[in-house]
Amino acid sequence: MKMKCARCQKSAVFRNPAYCREHFISYIERKVWSTIARYKLIGKNDAIFVACSGGKDSTVCLHILSQRYQVEALAIDEGIAGYRDLTLLDLRAYCAAHRIPLHVYSIKHLFGKTLDELLKKGSGLPCTLCGAFRRSLLNRCARELGATVIATGHNLDDEAQSVLMNFLRNQLAVSARLGPATGLVKDLHFVPRVKPMYFCTEKEITAYAYLMNFSPTFTECPYTWDSYRNTVRAHLNTYEENHRGTKKALIRSFLHLMPMLKARYRTTSALSRCHDCGEPCAADRCQVCSQLKKFQMKKY
Ligand SMILES: [Zn+2]
Ligand SMILES: [Zn+2]
Repeated sequence: MKMKCARCQKSAVFRNPAYCREHFISYIERKVWSTIARYKLIGKNDAIFVACSGGKDSTVCLHILSQRYQVEALAIDEGIAGYRDLTLLDLRAYCAAHRIPLHVYSIKHLFGKTLDELLKKGSGLPCTLCGAFRRSLLNRCARELGATVIATGHNLDDEAQSVLMNFLRNQLAVSARLGPATGLVKDLHFVPRVKPMYFCTEKEITAYAYLMNFSPTFTECPYTWDSYRNTVRAHLNTYEENHRGTKKALIRSFLHLMPMLKARYRTTSALSRCHDCGEPCAADRCQVCSQLKKFQMKKY
């Protein structure tokens, strides 16, 4: 039997909650607006840049924010052939169709080598390396473009995985940096990051992207090595299937703990400046410069 929308007589396009196309779309968008309001993620005078990959999460984030705010898209091209080049094509098409300014910075241009070229040398963990580069570059490029806030497409599933991973590995200091508004310290050189899709599940975002006719290329990064996250994701998904609401409950518990975690770790994690590049970091040398040294690339 076909399921009906909980709000009207049309047939449902989504289960849990059961909504028709129109009601589902407005349900997701209202969820984003209320997250922004409740956690004060975006202020009236903010210059908002959305960190985009061309994938569904960041594209949906860009799409929803652009309905109420003036936004620009910012992307980092790591130079991963057969993956990032394809997702960036989607992003360019989306931004052109919706007249949203897009800024793409390539690692090759900034550092002289693509991630592919780096990895041919054979060492280093791609996700760690890539993550360090992306975070640092996004911050630096957004800051230079005059951004006052960076919005990312992180969803409830991503956050639940991170929270659980940090518990399982006793890394509460890492969890202290999570939450709808990330980070612990205010720093002039650090552009605050926010997650407007914090309470949207992966399934919801996939459905929204599908209903909006976004056609992101569903390609996996060829370097996906974060096997621990994959294990945790699989366990959480199984658990969610058997005990509906688990992910949301995990996030709710975390949000109760979060103010205590932030207060506890705030004092010990004041940012210093990287000795090599001057970017904000927690140690003497930032992760990017450490990696650059390791791979003997030019400095930026
Ligand atoms: Zn309806
Ligand atoms: Zn540095």
